[in-house]
Amino acid sequence: MLEAKKCAVCNQEFNIYPSQNHKKYCSKACYTNSQIKPEKRITKKCKFCGTKFTSYIAQKHNFCSRFCGYEARKKRTEKMYDDIKKNKYYL
Ligand SMILES: [Zn+2]
Ligand SMILES: [Zn+2]
Repeated sequence: MLEAKKCAVCNQEFNIYPSQNHKKYCSKACYTNSQIKPEKRITKKCKFCGTKFTSYIAQKHNFCSRFCGYEARKKRTEKMYDDIKKNKYYL
């Protein structure tokens, strides 16, 4: 039987097995965020999908996840190739 629990960081409900009752966070990302001291935390909006996420102030993260960073980079690369095809760049 799964039980619903609220994530201590993002407040989203997630399912746990009773044996996992010590679990406080829905994901590894939330666990990582919980380790950041509040004064060093900053809430940012993902530049790719718009999801809000927590990150260190010192870190210049612009994406909520590796996936978004990857997709955004892929898009940029595709655009670059497009521009090359249109002879905007001579590489
Ligand atoms: Zn969470
Ligand atoms: Zn994102």
